[in-house]
Order: sequence, then C-alpha cells, then structure tokens
Amino acid sequence: MTDTRTFDDRDGWIWLDGKLVPWREASFHVLTHALHYASSVFEGQRAYGGEVFRLTDHSKRLRRSAEILGFEIPWSVEQIDAACRETLKANNLEDAYMRPVAWRGSEQMGVAAHNSTIHLAIAVWPWGAYFGEDAIRKGARLMISKWRRPAPYTAPTDSKAAGLYMICTLAKHESQDKGYDDAMMFDWRGQVAEGTGANAFFIKDGVIHTPTPDCFLNGITRQTVIELARKRGIEVVERAIWPEELEGFEQMFLTGSAAELTPVASVGPWNFEVGEMTLGLRRDYLDLVNRRLSNA
Ligand code: PMP
Repeated sequence: MTDTRTFDDRDGWIWLDGKLVPWREASFHVLTHALHYASSVFEGQRAYGGEVFRLTDHSKRLRRSAEILGFEIPWSVEQIDAACRETLKANNLEDAYMRPVAWRGSEQMGVAAHNSTIHLAIAVWPWGAYFGEDAIRKGARLMISKWRRPAPYTAPTDSKAAGLYMICTLAKHESQDKGYDDAMMFDWRGQVAEGTGANAFFIKDGVIHTPTPDCFLNGITRQTVIELARKRGIEVVERAIWPEELEGFEQMFLTGSAAELTPVASVGPWNFEVGEMTLGLRRDYLDLVNRRLSNA
C-alpha cells in the first residue's frame, strides 16, 4: 500500500552526513546554497530483494554529477555504497526506491559557494510502478512538451543535477493537468530526447531506435536495456531521431531506475502498440534486477 503521509512525516531512518537520524529530524537551514541556487545532485535507484541494482554505478554517477557542478562529495564510492546498504537495512526494506542527494550547505550566501560544506543524505521508501499499474498494462500516454532539453553548452547536461529538473517539473505538471502520464521532451535542436525522468526507445521492423544521449542522461537502465536487447539478438541503433519519425514507429517504451521499463501507448497524436518485443524486454529487465536470470 502506498504511504500517503508527506515526505517529512514518516517513520524510519535517513542517513545524513555520516549517521542515521530519525526520519523527521533530517532537515537543514533555509539559507542553504542548494535551495537558492540549485547546487544539488541526486541519484534514484531501486533495491530488489535487499540489493540495490547497479549500486556502484549509481554512487559513481553521484560523485561525477557533483564534480561536474564543481564540488567533491566527501565520501568515496565505497563509502556511499556502504551507506546505501546501511540505510536500506535500517529501514527494514528489501524492495524499495532509494534517493541519495548531495548539496552545498549554508556557510555562504550569494552565487559563489567556495566555502560551503558538502552534505550527503540517503533516504529510502517503498515505491510501486512509477507511472502506475495502468501504464504498464496499457502503455503510458505522453504529451509533447514545449520545454526542450538544453544544449550541453547551456547547462551541465551530463550531471544528474537538481537544477535540470526545473523544466521537467513544468513539463510533468502540464502533462498531468491535461490528463497524460508524462511528457516527451525534444532537445534544443528539435530532436526527440526523453521523458521527464526516463529515456525513450522506439521499435520499427524489429529494430530498436533510441536517441543519442548527447544532451541528457545516458541512463543506467537505458544502458542495461540496450545490453539485454543485444543479448536477444535485437539490433539497437543510437542516433538522432526527429519528430516526423514518430508516426512510423510501431512500439515505444521508457526506461529509468524508477520507471523500470514502461510501455508507451501514445506521444501526442501518435499511437503505439504494447507489443511483444517491449514486453519481452520488460520481462528480461525484471528478471535481471530480481537476479532470477539464468546464466544460460
Ligand atoms: N532521464 C532523466 C531526466 C531521469 O531523471 C532519469 C532517471 N534517473 C533517466 C533519464 C534514466 O536514468 P537511469 O536509468 O539511470 O535511472
């Protein structure tokens, strides 16, 4: 069952700057640089059966995201991995979503923040299907957002930086207000890019096409699903995809640590079937994350 309580009012433990603190006490000052200037990076990862899938890759990306924003997280990848495991255990969870977040603190106000300390927190909570169960069965419905993924020379697009999600929230809100599940975002060139929190894949004539991640995250799930598809002998082409092509694709799906692999039923006026290839890859992904995959 989904916990309907607000996120500041729950039981459990949050790892904060080296120790586990009671959930409700994991707070910081209002004059925190991250709150004013978005100097924050985060991860989203899922635990299955008590183990975080590709944990070290997520911890590495977290540190790298911070480096791109010009700060160093004062914990090593190994220490972050250990802290994630400790947090999962302390909360007695096996299957859960986990959110590590690192940010610049409150020592300095103004755009510059050389003297601020760096903080790290890790929270974990149960989280079911990201787009809801209906989307998994029937496919998610996406609108096309007017917000575009920025060019790499306009924003640090390789970083999973909180600031990059400002336009994602705008796009997501508009889509939900209009009755859609999510929004498809194009990039600054007008090419098809991704959802507001997940990468996009298309299928035509038995071949998978996915946009080259040159101005948005090359998701860990994306990389996993590409490997799984190639293992099945499916050709995967990474290339620039233009909106005119959407009409010709037969199937579409989204991938992300939270979204896992979710079929898509429509993008704006274009419809897709929830087809066998998409469902087969979804099964492969779930088998893999649940460690049920045989080595054969
Ligand atoms: N794009 C965006 C904007 C995201 O927020 C996410 C989720 N982290 C992804 C793509 C997929 O990344 P991953 O598979 O590593 O979770």
